[in-house]
Amino acid sequence: MVLMTADEYRKSLQMRGPLKVFFAGEQLTDPLSHPLVQSSINSIALTYALAHQAQYQEIMTATSSLTGNTINRFCHLHQSTKDLEKKVQMLRLLGQRCGTCFQRCVGMDALNAVYLTTYEIDQACKTGYHQRFIDYMKRVEAHDWVIDGCMTDPKGDRSKRPSEQKDPDVYVHVVERHDDGVTIRGAKAHQTGAVNSHEHLLMPTLAMRDAEKKFTICCAVPADAKGITYFYGRQASDLRRLDQSAEGDIDCGNPEYGGQECLVIFEDVFVPHERIFMDGESEFCGRLVESFAAYHRQSYGGCKVGVGDVLIGAAATIAEYNGVQNASHIRDKITEMIHLNETLYACGMACSSCGTVTGAGNYLVDILLANVCKQNVTRFPFEIARLLQDIAGGLFVTCPSAKELQDPETRRLIEKYLVGAEGINTVDRMKILRLIENLTLGRAAVGYLTESMHGAGSPQAQRIMIGRMANLEEKKNFAKSLAKIEEK
Ligand code: SF4
Ligand code: FE
Repeated sequence: MVLMTADEYRKSLQMRGPLKVFFAGEQLTDPLSHPLVQSSINSIALTYALAHQAQYQEIMTATSSLTGNTINRFCHLHQSTKDLEKKVQMLRLLGQRCGTCFQRCVGMDALNAVYLTTYEIDQACKTGYHQRFIDYMKRVEAHDWVIDGCMTDPKGDRSKRPSEQKDPDVYVHVVERHDDGVTIRGAKAHQTGAVNSHEHLLMPTLAMRDAEKKFTICCAVPADAKGITYFYGRQASDLRRLDQSAEGDIDCGNPEYGGQECLVIFEDVFVPHERIFMDGESEFCGRLVESFAAYHRQSYGGCKVGVGDVLIGAAATIAEYNGVQNASHIRDKITEMIHLNETLYACGMACSSCGTVTGAGNYLVDILLANVCKQNVTRFPFEIARLLQDIAGGLFVTCPSAKELQDPETRRLIEKYLVGAEGINTVDRMKILRLIENLTLGRAAVGYLTESMHGAGSPQAQRIMIGRMANLEEKKNFAKSLAKIEEK
């Protein structure tokens, strides 16, 4: 099984053991059949479906560097700058298709970061992590797994280090050692697609110090491992997904696709040696965190751009439905949206094109440019969303419920008074307005806006990296040399 189909992916989730998933005060007896979970599974399923479509195979699949097999690009170790560029193109394509977060990129980014870091640990410490990770990677590729890359710990009191916390469990750490492995405890927050994954790949959340060796653990755990509890995130307008009528679907804005974020608790989960890829080598945490963050900051130059394309399309559509598509200020606003969106894409492509080969043999993006990419992502989607709301007019938040369409008399009134440009169907106008609400205020806004701000690190994290990586001394020398200043 190297390239799963979307159906095989859905079945593979059912083959896992039972998961303990809580949502809105209830433990879900059958999480996979819950409408919220289903919409998020639909998004990931696209990553499998498109890999089987001839016109997308170049982008969606790759040749494994480990086996020579054709594999899904989400399981691939990047072998060239071209591979890095194709990754960005793949994420843009998927964002266009689902208009939300398709959840599978965090794992791809974690796989590449752990691959290069385990090699470097082995070189310095004579450990055997890299071969162990290669063996694991072969399984990932062969099963076409969704990997949930787990980095962010809850962190407790931010003024304190992990070892200084009143309750050390706010950082994942080793609580017990055994002959055949370790037991870990802790939690990972904001876990994208956790319930839809086959495996969790846990990494330390920050550069640990010598005294924090027990927090320096990188390992893989099956999604159905004993001791894991999932709390499904509560998000804006999520209960609209539970309205099962066609009219309720309209109010969803994006009836088919959704994202997923969870709090995942690991309470005394056993991890055998063969699934441990770092254990106490605290001096390498920085490299792992930095390279993972760089890959994921690159990712946003693809996925957010794809969703941005949907926002631009929604802007052009509602302008037409309102009959204002030829107004010069509307055209100018749409041009500005395109400019901002393509700037993000340019950053994603640039950090890919300037990527370099690592000691392990896979390619890493240009870290400075990846941070610039993500820094722009913390701003431009907000401006794109603002322009879309401007163009849409206020009806996207005051529109009556689509349930009013069920009664012929209320339907008649709504169709009469919410009519737009001549020849435009009122219900179609309501549909696009609800999509705009979903993208800029509702569930998809979690991925498009809040995640643009905080995902892959909040804005300040990129500013620190940008400040650190720009060679300021060199720039000073350029200026001094032109001004004929000679250092004494
Ligand atoms: Fe992928 Fe974007 Fe979702 Fe992150 S936010 S998992 S990069 S789609
Ligand atoms: Fe993310």
